[in-house]
Amino acid sequence: MDTIQPEEIRAHMNFLADDLLEGRDAGTRGYDIAANYVRTQFEAMGLMPAGDDGTYYQQVPLRRAALDESESFLRIRFDGGSKSLKIGDDYLLRPNLGRSDVPVEAVLVFAGYGIRAPELDHDDYEGLDASGKIVVHLSGAPESFGSTERAVYSSRETKAAQALDAGAVGLLTVLTELDLERRPWERFREGSRSPSMAWIDPDTSQTSSALDALDVVGVMRASESLLASDASDVEPGATAEARTVSHHEALESPNVVAMLEGDPGEEVVVYSSHLDHVGRGTPEDGDDIYNGAYDNASGIAVILAVARAFASTETRPARSIVFIAVTAEEKGLLGSDFFAQHPSVSAPVVANVNVDGALMFHPLRDIIAFGADHSTLLDPVSRAASQLGIELSPDFMPEEVIFVRSDQYSFVRQGIPAVYPFVGTDTGSERVDGERVLRDWMATRYHKPSDDMSQEMDFDAGADYAKLCYLIGELIANDAARPQWNEGDFLGAKFAR
Ligand SMILES: [Zn+2]
Repeated sequence: MDTIQPEEIRAHMNFLADDLLEGRDAGTRGYDIAANYVRTQFEAMGLMPAGDDGTYYQQVPLRRAALDESESFLRIRFDGGSKSLKIGDDYLLRPNLGRSDVPVEAVLVFAGYGIRAPELDHDDYEGLDASGKIVVHLSGAPESFGSTERAVYSSRETKAAQALDAGAVGLLTVLTELDLERRPWERFREGSRSPSMAWIDPDTSQTSSALDALDVVGVMRASESLLASDASDVEPGATAEARTVSHHEALESPNVVAMLEGDPGEEVVVYSSHLDHVGRGTPEDGDDIYNGAYDNASGIAVILAVARAFASTETRPARSIVFIAVTAEEKGLLGSDFFAQHPSVSAPVVANVNVDGALMFHPLRDIIAFGADHSTLLDPVSRAASQLGIELSPDFMPEEVIFVRSDQYSFVRQGIPAVYPFVGTDTGSERVDGERVLRDWMATRYHKPSDDMSQEMDFDAGADYAKLCYLIGELIANDAARPQWNEGDFLGAKFAR
């Protein structure tokens, strides 16, 4: 652990976040160069290839879908008239990744947040017949839900699966003023205009997403155009007619996978971190390269430093350790989901440590260990943190639903306990408000061309964070007991196999 140096974090980031890599979008040349960099780093460390057929690459079969805005539409009719809605201004449609032309006409039904959470005594579908209908719902989840529950139930994938279970044929999310304060409509629109991606099951040629099984998925602004003018818009009688036309294109992109064999190595601990970012896009101040320095060249730099430290130790850990740099996280956690469902290693994966955004705004004094309090992983995480004098802090922005927004969630959905150690906001200085610094960064640089290497970074903090990640994995790998979900835990009950 003590061999981890700030300079190696900086050097990996300098390479990966360079303009030459053009933002590392999955399926582009820039991403492939980044993958080759990580592969050769693993090779130089002497780690075993753990991808397809004795290579470091696990190819992920992907499909890209772009919405044809001129052919696609959504119309709403209700007693006494119809609403003429404009695509891009009043509503956005998600392209369908399974089917290229999906028409639908159905009654609308309003279902609160669109959440069925029996363990929290919350059921928006209670007494509601959603069969054959399009479910209109609010985004997010009730504030009364705990941080993780709120994150899981806020996810559109969860809502889509629950809508399907209720027999619904579509899902329309209403965005309130509050939603749009946090994320302006323009961001939603940009997101919807950039192509969607999914991984494709080679046997069925379908995606595994519930969203693609629905006949229409979209978002609408709550302003005058819909709810505000007349709440009865979505009361019985209102129907919608929609057509979703999508252009499909096949591609593949690799996860980069390496292994340090354990002794006896009958189980596997996986370190994951996403290698892709969003590529090139709308220019800001003349710059169209979204370098993704913090998101997530920093995370890859950290797992490379951790991997090198492990590779240089003389005693092998009891469990094998797999390091995976995943593709297409920015497209919906695709590379990690593919790996979690089709692991390229044969021994069972028993835990995941995910690194996404190793923020280095100030010295590292605390972390928020997303997911750890749901399983026995809290113990090794707490021990590692206390050994390094680092505090564990609670989630202070549950509305950001961070737990479902990075690759640990792919492992959790396959029943594997996971932790996402997120850098905390204790700066150690009364004068610098760390929460403010983080929120400012999210508002001004996150997913923008300015998340690049011109930012001032505390690489000592980056190295400290890497040491913590190293220690967490080492303790998990050598623990006598296999990681378990806590008794009666929400995630364990929902996902454990
Ligand atoms: Zn990220």
